[in-house]
Amino acid sequence: MKRMSGAEVRQSFLDFFASKGHLIVPSAPLVPVGDPTLLLTNAGMNQFKNIFLGLEEPKHTRVADAQKCMRVSGHLNDLEEVGPSPYHHTFFEMMGNWSFGDYYKREAIRWAWELVTEVWGMEKDRLWATIFEDDQGDLPTDEDARGYWQTETDVRHDHILTFGRVDNFWAMGPVGPCGPCSEIHYDRGPEYCDKQDEPGHVCGVNGDCARYLEFWNLVFIQYNRDADGVLVELPAKHIDTGMGLDRVTTMSQGVVANYETDLFQPIFHRVQEMLGHSDEEVRENKVPYRVIADHGRGITFLVGDGVIPGNEGRNYVLRMILRRAARFGRKLGFTGPFLGQVAETVIDMFGGHYDELVRRKEFILNVIRQEEERFQRTLDVGLSILDEIMERLRDESETSIPGVEAFRLYDTFGFPLDLTRDVAAEHGFAVDEAGFQDALEEQRARARAAQQFVVSDVEELEVYARLADELRNQGHLGPDGVEHPYDQTLELESIVLAIVRDGEVVSSAREGDEVEIVLAATPFYVESGGQVSDTGILARYDDERDEPQWEVDVEEMRQPVPGLIVHVGRVTHGRPRVKDPAWALVDAARRVDIARNHTATHLLHSELRYILGEHVQQAGSLVAPDRLRFDFTHGAMLTQEELDAVEQSVNDAILANYPLLAEEKSYQEAVAAGAMALFGEKYGDEVRVIEIGVPGEPFSQELCGGTHVRHTGEIGLFRIISEGSVGAGVRRIEAVTGRAAQQVVQKRLGVLDAAATHLGTAPEEVDRAVLRLMGESHDQQKEIANLRRQLARLEFETLLNRVQQVNGVQVLAERVQATDTETLREMTDWLRNQLGSAVIVLGAVIEDKPNFVAAITPDLVERGIKAGNLIKQVARVVGGGGGGRPTLAQAGGRDPNRLDEALELVPGVVADLVDGT
Ligand SMILES: [Zn+2]
Ligand SMILES: [Zn+2]
Repeated sequence: MKRMSGAEVRQSFLDFFASKGHLIVPSAPLVPVGDPTLLLTNAGMNQFKNIFLGLEEPKHTRVADAQKCMRVSGHLNDLEEVGPSPYHHTFFEMMGNWSFGDYYKREAIRWAWELVTEVWGMEKDRLWATIFEDDQGDLPTDEDARGYWQTETDVRHDHILTFGRVDNFWAMGPVGPCGPCSEIHYDRGPEYCDKQDEPGHVCGVNGDCARYLEFWNLVFIQYNRDADGVLVELPAKHIDTGMGLDRVTTMSQGVVANYETDLFQPIFHRVQEMLGHSDEEVRENKVPYRVIADHGRGITFLVGDGVIPGNEGRNYVLRMILRRAARFGRKLGFTGPFLGQVAETVIDMFGGHYDELVRRKEFILNVIRQEEERFQRTLDVGLSILDEIMERLRDESETSIPGVEAFRLYDTFGFPLDLTRDVAAEHGFAVDEAGFQDALEEQRARARAAQQFVVSDVEELEVYARLADELRNQGHLGPDGVEHPYDQTLELESIVLAIVRDGEVVSSAREGDEVEIVLAATPFYVESGGQVSDTGILARYDDERDEPQWEVDVEEMRQPVPGLIVHVGRVTHGRPRVKDPAWALVDAARRVDIARNHTATHLLHSELRYILGEHVQQAGSLVAPDRLRFDFTHGAMLTQEELDAVEQSVNDAILANYPLLAEEKSYQEAVAAGAMALFGEKYGDEVRVIEIGVPGEPFSQELCGGTHVRHTGEIGLFRIISEGSVGAGVRRIEAVTGRAAQQVVQKRLGVLDAAATHLGTAPEEVDRAVLRLMGESHDQQKEIANLRRQLARLEFETLLNRVQQVNGVQVLAERVQATDTETLREMTDWLRNQLGSAVIVLGAVIEDKPNFVAAITPDLVERGIKAGNLIKQVARVVGGGGGGRPTLAQAGGRDPNRLDEALELVPGVVADLVDGT
């Protein structure tokens, strides 16, 4: 076989299929678009799923691509395989060619053979083909495929083998599209067998050694399996093929493992260079090197598609693999962040084909660096929690860390099991790994339960899929579905095509019913790209428009399956029926508010990039009628100066009253012209670009399907109301425009006017007046404190005059004013110092409760008067208790009205105590 770089393999695959009339489409993002059942894109066919399910019409019937994929189930065990095993990866690329009801088995087989033998020069003797023969005896053997292998190719006939359902039958799920497949295997030669030492081992296709490699799977989507498990032959049959780029590159470069190809090696070299390792050291540390190479690719591509580390779903997957890579880096000897350099290498390696990596380079490096630093802190926290656990166990004479604790560390703090194991071992502890696995299994069961729920959602979708099919067959829906002139149209007359109530298609509805209504055409915008749906009404008017026969309040819009738009709402009046004429009226004032916020969002995005730098990328957006929310990548909090500058320049752009232009362009053309494409959006070939600025020289160009004002001046006013952080390297600005901005300004000016009135000054003078008041208030506080001190001194002097003599002991028992017990103690101290030898009991009502402090000088303690005993007897009167040292004690009680009565007891108690000696 010809020797090629990974990039050459990829490009020659795409070029080959382009020459066979295929449209080469870009990879869909790793974040699946419009598919809530999927965490991450994990197969080449994901982005075509709706076509196979018959929910979406293909725009082209022959397509080929190289698709970014991630397989990380979130299960610890699978991930732990990456590194120790040379075959497991998280990120990989799947190349595929597709026919949607176009060519079938004959061409798929002929072209596959042509590519691998003629273009790539694979030796024919080394190639094997497999076809389907049902091991359960229900389905026919795929004789068509066998025939084409024999007539369309010159593969050796004894190299065509049959296999059963496990190897050669493919299904999308328990129900849905499925069919037989045909695989191509490559015999690398006996020297590649890694089981030569095992007695009885025989190498073979679909065997268990490394000699024969399956590298291309051609799936013939022939049937649809219905809910009863019955296979129904499809009218339009499809081709779906998948070839792992890593594997073919490994074969082409004549190496044993994927890690040895140029799809991984540059990362090894970069790490080696950073650590100054010898080649020998690299070999000795192959597991950490592999982990860093594999995970380094994964995290770079994930962040490149807008995923940010977090604690749920795909965000958690990213965090998990990033931390695993960081941890293995520490094992290798890195003491600081290093994954940024790894990511740079990955961007150099793959940026040529996946240009989003280059465009988002700064963002990618920033997010990775911040998460790596955060992980260092997590490690510290985890270690201290582990210390606490071990300390407690030591007290309980336990020697094993419970599985639930290890799991909690793993699940909550991202603290990996093997790290827990290492640290535990250092301190002489074991880890209950079975308990850990149980806890993990429980979590998986919960995850599976959640998955089931999603499946039932999919079944619910079938109602709409069937409805869309029916309407299409009856000619009511165009090829693109419901006619949808949403941009500048706010009302139009249409016809009711369908009514859905409680998940069932019905022919009419009554007043009060919650319904979903499908019209043949609608001007209502359906939530997308962050812009919320329109609201409004549907109504049937016969003659006079102000007397509707029936009316529906539309609260929400949905597109449950492509092309079918439903108005969700309540019948407020009358009885809507299918086939009724109906007016669709968008709430126009609300729509204009939304448009203002949407256009302002574009201005904000562009000004942020201008003022903060090109690293600013949109990371999320909400466009509602009352406000806009914009999340963007930026490493630091915005200063007040930056916020002021951003607000000012957005308002400048509004005042300049720039026109807006919506243009349809090809995706390539738009991006080449500098239009900003957003994370996580799947774009067709034709995209809509919103340009703002002087025509021909727009300063803002974004791919966008939303609604906008015609000129920026219509926005009126833009005001930022908050700025904050929403995660590593991502900031959030909330702002208002138009009416809402006016309200904010009006409200604040109102407050200012009121304050001015209260202050008896002009609004412009308010701040000065407030400063003056604050100054005065400060002076008065000082004065008050002074007076208080004088008062206190006077009070103390009065108190000293109240000292009584009880059997030769000076006794002072008085009520005083104090705001807390601390003050009460200080007063007692001061009096004790003044009196030299005395029993002092002070009482005060603090927060409606009686409180006492008793102080006894040491000479009197020796005479048997203990503060604790004394105060207990006193406090009993007010229903309380207390205690303390012999020289100082404190007590509280419940009844403040009996405070004086309690204090009056003191001389008597002292007399008793002194007598008692
Ligand atoms: Zn073998
Ligand atoms: Zn937009």
